[in-house]
Amino acid sequence: MERFNYKKKYGQNFITDKNLINKIVNLVPITKNDLVIEVGPGSGALTLDLVNRAKNVIIYEIDSDLEEIINNKLNDYDNYKLIINDFLDVDIKKDIDDYQFDNLIFVSNLPYYVTTPIIKKFIDDGILCDYMVVMVQDEVADRLSAVVGSKDYGSLTVYLNAFYDIKKELKVNRKLFFPIPNVDSAVVVMKKKDNIKINNYDFFKKFVKDCFRFKRKNLRNNLKGYDIDIIESLLSKYNLSLSNRAEEIDYSIFIDIANKMSE
Ligand code: SAM
Repeated sequence: MERFNYKKKYGQNFITDKNLINKIVNLVPITKNDLVIEVGPGSGALTLDLVNRAKNVIIYEIDSDLEEIINNKLNDYDNYKLIINDFLDVDIKKDIDDYQFDNLIFVSNLPYYVTTPIIKKFIDDGILCDYMVVMVQDEVADRLSAVVGSKDYGSLTVYLNAFYDIKKELKVNRKLFFPIPNVDSAVVVMKKKDNIKINNYDFFKKFVKDCFRFKRKNLRNNLKGYDIDIIESLLSKYNLSLSNRAEEIDYSIFIDIANKMSE
């Protein structure tokens, strides 16, 4: 890879440490019955371990300069499909339709410039992975795993917590990548919750987004246009009111209120 032209615009910081790769792929069980999705294989550092463990791996890479490098690295395997495309433009449902599997597992050292849209795309496209293992910038990891009331708690935290149990598992020193990025990273594991009870996902998403519209404003100000008397009475059950801000509301309360309002 010495002569590879690393592209900053694609967030290309490749893992250089074998030990780190082992730690990442061991964070969740991956078996010969599972389908793995990887976004951004780079030179295939993680991918090699994934094709070894999984039944099938679908790999999305935006940079066509990497196509040959990845195919060479995976030369001994036929259980992968490399799709050279922007992940944000693909139809995941269609791509996984041909496969039979027990668990769907997403593993990615995510390109930092597009971390949130990639994670959100799964939920927006209605694809719930059994596990998601993502390497992100350390501060993003704090946001994903934030608890209610903390400064990092936002709409993304609520969306993800509605579907996943989330844990920041590893902090990763920036020196374990090439080129070395400006900040440290962390690996977050999300495990699909057993009982997900959201009546109307589109309503839930819009409601949460509106509640967080202006972070410093309270719910009364952010929810103009809603039937706020109903919301007030639903909040009172939890000793909360329209004077509270969205960051003070637990994700489970958002689910309860959105469900009652969309009954
Ligand atoms: N997995 C490799 C590793 O850990 O060494 C590389 C990770 S690097 C942080 C991010 C990778 O995502 C790069 O290979 C980059 O080209 C790719 N990438 C960036 N944006 C993408 C997108 N929108 N869709 C698919 N791949 C993307």
